[in-house]
Formats: sequence, C-alpha cells, structure tokens
Amino acid sequence: MSARRESVLREMGLTPLWRQRSRASACAQNELAECSVAREEDCAGSGILVETTAFTPEPRVLEPALVAQATPSACPSIGTDARVARIAGAQWEELEREIRACTACRLCEQRRQAVPGVGDRQGPWMLVGEAPGSEEDRRGEPFVGQAGKLLDAMLAAIGLVRGEGVYIANTVKCRPPLNRTPAADEIAACLPFLERQIRLIQPRILIALGRPAAETLLGMEVRINAARGKEFSYDQIPVVVTYHPAYLLRNPADKCKAWEDLCRARRLMARRD
Ligand code: SF4
Repeated sequence: MSARRESVLREMGLTPLWRQRSRASACAQNELAECSVAREEDCAGSGILVETTAFTPEPRVLEPALVAQATPSACPSIGTDARVARIAGAQWEELEREIRACTACRLCEQRRQAVPGVGDRQGPWMLVGEAPGSEEDRRGEPFVGQAGKLLDAMLAAIGLVRGEGVYIANTVKCRPPLNRTPAADEIAACLPFLERQIRLIQPRILIALGRPAAETLLGMEVRINAARGKEFSYDQIPVVVTYHPAYLLRNPADKCKAWEDLCRARRLMARRD
C-alpha cells in the first residue's frame, strides 16, 4: 500500500491489516458483520485498491437526540410559486445570489451567511449533506472543519478530490441554531435550491450523507442502516445512502461501513462508464 493511501485510510480510522486470505475471509463472515475487525474490499474494475483494512476501535459515543425546535419565523415567507419557478429557471450566478439573499424560512434568522455549495459544477459526483455547521456558517463553504476533513479523506480513499469532478452541497443552505436537525418545513423551503443544483450539475451519481439528505432525495422515511447497500434513484440518477461524516466522528466504529458504501458507489460509477 502506498504511503498516501495508508495516510488516507488512517485518517478515516481504517488502518491497514495484512492477513492471510483464509483468515480474512472468515472474518468477513463472522466478525465483519459488525465491522469491528477487518474485511477484504473488492473494488475490482474501479481502479481502487484491493486490500484488507482494519478499523481502529475507539470508544463508541451515542448520538444525542437531535430535536428540531420549530419556532415562528421573523423572516418573511416567500415560498410562492413565483419563487419556485424563478429558482427552477436560474443559472448558477442567479441561483447563488438567490440562496445568499434567501429569507424563505426561519433559518435565515441566525445564520452568518447562506452556504450554497462548492465544487465542480459539471462533476459526475454530487454529495449531499445535511446543513452547514458553525465553521461552514463562518466560512461559507460546506464540509469544512473536522467533518470536512474526514469527508476529504473518504473521497481520497476512493481516488476523488474535493472540487475535481465532485460537487458538495447541503440539503438546507443555512445553519440551524445549535446544529439541530433541520425541520421538515425548512427542508421543504430549501428544496427548490437543491433540485436546481442537481438539475444544473446533472451528476451521474448522488451520495446522500445522512438521513435528512437521504429522505429529501428519496422522498420517503429512511433509516441509514437499512438503506445502505440498497438501490435508489433520484430522477434516474443512482443514489447511494451512507453516513454523514459528523455522525462518523461520533461513531467511528461505522467508518468502515462508509468506506464500503463509497466503494460500492465507485463500482456503480465504473459500471456506468
Ligand atoms: S435554509 Fe434555505 S430556504 Fe431557509 S433561509 Fe436558508 S436558503 Fe432560504
């Protein structure tokens, strides 16, 4: 394994573990169901390495309940048909201007700035997260800070680089107070922006990072554990569901599942070439 690959996997918490093939295969059936030891990932045909990797165990932290606290908005609601039609016809500059000036939901109240998205606007890969956090709110770019660092490592592990063939956006463009999960009406108000971004980019694959993104793209209730590995599509674009990097920071034992999901996405892309 190259030094770069090793450092990327270490960043993800997936350190190399070389085993005899028979031993690893046994692990794949027995221990790896819980993703706690090692597995052989076969990304054949995708140009991705075939190696045995092992997860470095860390204490598991339970995710605190995130409760959407909907309060009346001081922002004027402009969820009109005219607004939706205007967004649906907007080109990039106009779209980003509209996002930055948007006051269509209460999330406009405490944001420093809206965060439209970043990356290759003709990229075949599009990643959709949940919402900006404090660092994103401050810098105006999605997935910066620790979660962004992990996301970059995840991308690098399958041979991708942020901004090169990859566009990254969030389901809602403004930071929810205290990083709570966006409420349904906030997601609905912001949906025309995401829909327009997808329509403009026309990615060949969508990666839904976390439940709000998956539910928004698929239009149904989603449990990430149950949805992983299943085939979904949005407007005939394949959707791969996996964990949000912020969740993985809190639950590092699931990092290798995210690695599996990204390798699966890589294989799907290879099949579409
Ligand atoms: S979250 Fe979306 S809909 Fe709400 S104010 Fe921000 S840009 Fe507008």
